[in-house]
Amino acid sequence: MIEHPIRQEETHVVGYCEGCGGEIVEGDDVIEFIDGLMIHQDVWCAYDYCGKFGRPKQA
Ligand SMILES: [Zn+2]
Repeated sequence: MIEHPIRQEETHVVGYCEGCGGEIVEGDDVIEFIDGLMIHQDVWCAYDYCGKFGRPKQA
């Protein structure tokens, strides 16, 4: 097994992004909601999150 030269310390997954569905690791910048859900501090994760829990429609 070849170890990655840059990332030597073990990454600690603390949760999953409700936006993109990707891993949230310790040290990541996230937005946490009241109910404990987390998303990355990223516009696309926020957008995905809104699309998932909101209902897209025409005003
Ligand atoms: Zn994300």
